[in-house]
Amino acid sequence: MPYLTQDQTAEPDSAGSGATGGHRTTTVERGAFCLARCDCGWSGPARRARSQARTDAERHTADR
Ligand SMILES: [Zn+2]
Repeated sequence: MPYLTQDQTAEPDSAGSGATGGHRTTTVERGAFCLARCDCGWSGPARRARSQARTDAERHTADR
């Protein structure tokens, strides 16, 4: 499993996005996969790469 990350903590996605008006996203590890989650109940598709999950989260907060 080449993409298994060492980082197991679901950290707040504070990397540059700033305030997102109620949509607070986190990335969650799910086995070998990683997916984005939001406070509003939305969750993104399972991704192999955490960076992809972050992109999903960013897209969600941009869309709303
Ligand atoms: Zn949301």
